[in-house]
Amino acid sequence: MSQGTRPPLTGRLIFESGTPESRCVTPPEPDVPDVDMDAALGGMLRREAPALPHVTEVEIARHYERLASANFGVDTGFYPLGSCTMKYNPKIDEWACRLDGFADAHPYQPEVTVQGLLHLMYDLQSALGEVSGLPAVSLQPAAGAHGELTGLMVIRAYHVAMGDARKRVIIPDSAHGTNPATVAMCGYEVTQVPSDARGGVDLDGLRAALGPDVAAIMLTNPNTLGLFDENICAITQLVHEAGALAYCDGANLNAIMGHARPGDLGFDVMHINLHKTFATPHGGGGPGAGPVCVAPALAEFLPSPVVVRDGEGEYHLHTPEKTIGRVRSFLGNVGVLVRAYSYIRALGGDGLKDVSEQAVLSANYLAQRLRGEYELPYDRRCMHEFVLSAERQRKEHGVRTLDIAKRLLDYGIHPPTVYFPLIVHEAMMIEPTETESLETLDRFADVMLAIAEEAKSDPEMLHGAPYSTPVRRLDEARAAREPDLAWKPMRDGAL
Ligand SMILES: *Cc1c(COP(=O)(O)O)cnc(C)c1O
Repeated sequence: MSQGTRPPLTGRLIFESGTPESRCVTPPEPDVPDVDMDAALGGMLRREAPALPHVTEVEIARHYERLASANFGVDTGFYPLGSCTMKYNPKIDEWACRLDGFADAHPYQPEVTVQGLLHLMYDLQSALGEVSGLPAVSLQPAAGAHGELTGLMVIRAYHVAMGDARKRVIIPDSAHGTNPATVAMCGYEVTQVPSDARGGVDLDGLRAALGPDVAAIMLTNPNTLGLFDENICAITQLVHEAGALAYCDGANLNAIMGHARPGDLGFDVMHINLHKTFATPHGGGGPGAGPVCVAPALAEFLPSPVVVRDGEGEYHLHTPEKTIGRVRSFLGNVGVLVRAYSYIRALGGDGLKDVSEQAVLSANYLAQRLRGEYELPYDRRCMHEFVLSAERQRKEHGVRTLDIAKRLLDYGIHPPTVYFPLIVHEAMMIEPTETESLETLDRFADVMLAIAEEAKSDPEMLHGAPYSTPVRRLDEARAAREPDLAWKPMRDGAL
């Protein structure tokens, strides 16, 4: 965008609004004697007023209201961003995490003064241990990727303690990008295994990849195709026979919660993205929490501190004996932990089971409604999400997944995840979640089918979408590589 022109999205900046005379508040006349501040400060008083905006209260209110309404979130509309679990976040969880005792607690407060918070954390550890089937839990990591790193460091510490430092970690070709990144950060080499025709891990490929230098396998189940790996118990058994451990990337827990426990499937370590499955608003990147759950044999390696309860019923912060150390300051992202606890307590065990059932039902409903017009490369019953391909639209009409994603914006719908997983061409990864009504699901399906018709009748129009948004199709690569974030005044004396 050329300098000096601004998109209507933001309108004027607060610095460009108002007049030098505009005021928000008018303080009363002072009833104390004047003080010569410059003299009192030894001549240090600034010579010019700071360049702050001069606006009235209503202008400030409108400014922030306009910015807030320019945002798109789950509370605005349908947000089927695959893998991200953009479910509705109940407002009662927001209420809970803002209670004074939680929100105003200071990280340096002595344990005896934060027993309530420690009690909550202890119970959350227990609940996550129960849901995962892996009873020892650290609430420290700040996100899923951070949980992956923590979990893999625990695995490494375990092998080293066994006197058997290993070199490689196995990852399927459908994996989320954070998995290989974590492996590399942890100093291991990645060995990739292919997917089989049904979208699961290819068992022969796995056998060939395993060896005495393999530390672990990292798997998402259901995987990024939204498919439950039917061979999961055989996979974890093969891995264990090779002396390696099995790591579950728990980002897709929303699909199986209450029905299958990763610990029972043979996994030794997993992380849970609390901001996905356990309801924290996370569009735009945070905050989150990625607790790590491990089997009893790995408990002593967890990061410090974990919350324990003594015989008197008092709660303490405890450092496990062979801990990998700290992975985050203080007690983690406590607000997210409180939301997760509140969510779990509000729903109860049966409620959590219902959540995953509804999430899976919604995804299968949409997959069935859309499979006629769009290709469904892995035509199986899906879990909480599914991956469509726009390969037919590309071949027959020159319309690509990106065009479809942009066109969805004109209909007020957030696009699904696109071009991921990498093993599907023109991929669209759709995750409706359990919180959407049948009416919303049907509207989305109707819109997707309407766009498939537009691809046939007017492909040129789709290349130009979106039309109704404040800004049109942006150069996304340039926006990421050469961001122009500095504000320059548009007119002299605007301040
Ligand atoms: C979201 C996600 C991650 C990363 O989690 P963050 O909390 O975003 O760091 C890892 N794996 C999968 C499959 C995911 O969907």
